Amino acid sequence: MELILNEEQQLLQDTAREFVNKNSSLRRVRTLRDSGDPLGYSRTLWGEMAKLGWLGIIFPEEYGGAGLGYTELMVILEELGRGLLPEPFISNILLAGNAIAIGGSPAQRQAVLPSLISGDLLLALAHQESRSRYNPHDVETQAQKTSSGWRLSGEKVHVLDGFGADRVLVSARTSGATADRAGMTLFLLDVHAPGLSIERQWRIDSRNAAIVRLDDVAAAGDDVLGKVDHGSDILDTVIDRATIGLCAEMLGGMNAALSMTLDYLKTRVQFGVPIGSFQALKHRAAKMYIETELARSAVMAAHKTIDEDSQRVPALASIAKARCSDAFVLISNEAVQMHGGIGMTDEHDIGFFIKRARVAEMTFGTAAYHRNRFAELQGY
Ligand SMILES: Cc1cc2nc3c(=O)[nH]c(=O)nc-3n(C[C@H](O)[C@H](O)[C@H](O)COP(=O)(O)OP(=O)(O)OC[C@H]3O[C@@H](n4cnc5c(N)ncnc54)[C@H](O)[C@@H]3O)c2cc1C
Repeated sequence: MELILNEEQQLLQDTAREFVNKNSSLRRVRTLRDSGDPLGYSRTLWGEMAKLGWLGIIFPEEYGGAGLGYTELMVILEELGRGLLPEPFISNILLAGNAIAIGGSPAQRQAVLPSLISGDLLLALAHQESRSRYNPHDVETQAQKTSSGWRLSGEKVHVLDGFGADRVLVSARTSGATADRAGMTLFLLDVHAPGLSIERQWRIDSRNAAIVRLDDVAAAGDDVLGKVDHGSDILDTVIDRATIGLCAEMLGGMNAALSMTLDYLKTRVQFGVPIGSFQALKHRAAKMYIETELARSAVMAAHKTIDEDSQRVPALASIAKARCSDAFVLISNEAVQMHGGIGMTDEHDIGFFIKRARVAEMTFGTAAYHRNRFAELQGY
């Protein structure tokens, strides 16, 4: 397995880096946060990403996509992570969009994917519940069969970019016990459906999330995604892919934090010399660099495994997420520490990385969760 980019992927990386440098900066992230922006990201910038074709990278050409691979997507996500862009890529493309592309009927794909890819339709996936932790099969939300379809009741938490979405994909139990893998079904609901309410949540990294409450919400038979009782098949696949995508974004974040820290070590002078000339700090910086490179190998291998449609995707997703969670936390901690007192202040941008690292660490499972999952997948 080659763990380097080819010429075309490198060109894509240059374009993405230029776009991020030109259109977004940590100043914009700060402004979105400080102004209490209603969405927490920019619809205009989302539209510009759509025009560049990024939203359709992994989707088939018949729906307006580019039909490219996950390695190409990784290149984009890493650059977005470098600039800490809060635009809803993981939620729209890797979670909800992917669920429709993988599990939807031809009619559902045709109805949703073109407007998702053009940036006009915003989607979210509501799969977590307050006591389900990281187990997507642990679903208490109930869907009762009626003469005309279904009635859903329950509560979903940590719904990434749920606030501001037009439609929300919800997991609900159609049979079986709470934690059974079987018996869970996915429903695509309009956010204006009677009985459905969305409450905005603020994360410490200022990203957009929500609580979705369902109080006897009606769903038609056509709103079911895939087969009744078989929602876990779709959900497991999209969560693994989203986890791997998030790892690419985290890789960008850790590289940016490392780069800002190296600049600081070379410019901050103490005792008449740059503090980076002291061995104590050089060794710590070298450790940060090694951790980013080990994380990069794991993230690239995981993306390539999706492109090869390998059975190893779940295991590689867990290796990548365990590595990236640990590495991003370590690197962002060290980055703040090495910046000294100024790094502790809100005025300095380095703090954004420690906040993002904390949230990303907890999203789709911590390092400990993924080490345990990897062991189980290997039969331990
Ligand atoms: C919330 C808060 C409360 C504080 N309260 C107090 C207080 O009550 N009293 C007080 O006196 N100060 C206080 N400080 C200041 C704090 O002690 C200094 O911020 C700290 O000493 C770091 O100094 P600096 O910011 O100049 O970092 P820098 O000197 O820029 O150092 C940056 C990094 O390099 C390391 N470093 C620097 N020189 C060397 C070297 N020669 N060898 C190896 N590593 C080196 C530092 O440990 C740090 O990791 C406070 C700071 C904060 C953020």
